Amino acid sequence: MSHVYDLHTHSTASDGAFSPELLVEKASAVGINTLALTDHDTVSGLVAAQNASRKHNVTLINGIELSCLWNNKTIHVVGLNIKADSKTIIDATIHLNHLREERAIKIGEKLRKVGIDNAYENAKRIAAGGTVTRQHFSTFLIENGNAKNQTEVFKRYLVNNKPGYASVEWPSLEETIAQINAAGGVSVIAHPLRYKLTATKLRNLIKEFKGFDGRAIEVITGHNQSTEIQLATGYAKRYGVAASVGSDFHNGNTPWSQLGKLAKLPQGLTPVWELW
Ligand code: AMP
Ligand code: MN
Ligand code: MN
Ligand code: MN
Repeated sequence: MSHVYDLHTHSTASDGAFSPELLVEKASAVGINTLALTDHDTVSGLVAAQNASRKHNVTLINGIELSCLWNNKTIHVVGLNIKADSKTIIDATIHLNHLREERAIKIGEKLRKVGIDNAYENAKRIAAGGTVTRQHFSTFLIENGNAKNQTEVFKRYLVNNKPGYASVEWPSLEETIAQINAAGGVSVIAHPLRYKLTATKLRNLIKEFKGFDGRAIEVITGHNQSTEIQLATGYAKRYGVAASVGSDFHNGNTPWSQLGKLAKLPQGLTPVWELW
């Protein structure tokens, strides 16, 4: 029996639908042996997830998905096997959540200008104490009848040049990798093919990331196709970075991103778990 890894998932500590405990239980039920909880800009779900992992016979890797800026674009870096009580990481999450709070207020103001009231208050209600993300605004806007589904709501409201978009001065890529390193973790570029970067820019991103001591890229992510897996495999080999596997699971609603439903890593790559 092969060992099943899923190293990118979300809980109610950020924008996932399930509590850390329930996520671990579900992961166990679908046969995942090693799970990383990687909530956006927070480590607040990790203690509960660790406790649940002992009950459900799953190895829980402490993780986080940090928002950062590279060449003015928001990039997500997953930190794996971090010390969750690292002061550097905790300070980083405080700063990031402050930035998120400021952005959420701005999004609320912008949506009010197009006639949608109380979006900030509702996003906060839905986030229920977890990191507030655009996903929470999306849930509210669907609830409020402004769009049918998540794809539509992002396209119409929550992306650049749309009425509910506000940019954020996230920390730099370099600083973010340094924080993960300070916490004893391994940095991974999350979903590298989802940033709509040209091939040249993506290669530059991976090169610079490696230069800053970034260690891996996600080769297998929830919704990628075999051509995307081949592309990412080529980049990992060419630039000498390790390969990670993570569904980016948030909830049961997205058929392309389910727990435990991941393609195998192609041959000839260094799996990220060999780095810890
Ligand atoms: P944030 O980090 O607050 O900007 O929110 C980003 C989150 O929103 C991602 O992690 C996804 O959960 C979700 N998201 C972003 N873009 C889309 C999209 N086009 N369709 C659906 N969900 C999206
Ligand atoms: Mn998310
Ligand atoms: Mn992401
Ligand atoms: Mn994610």
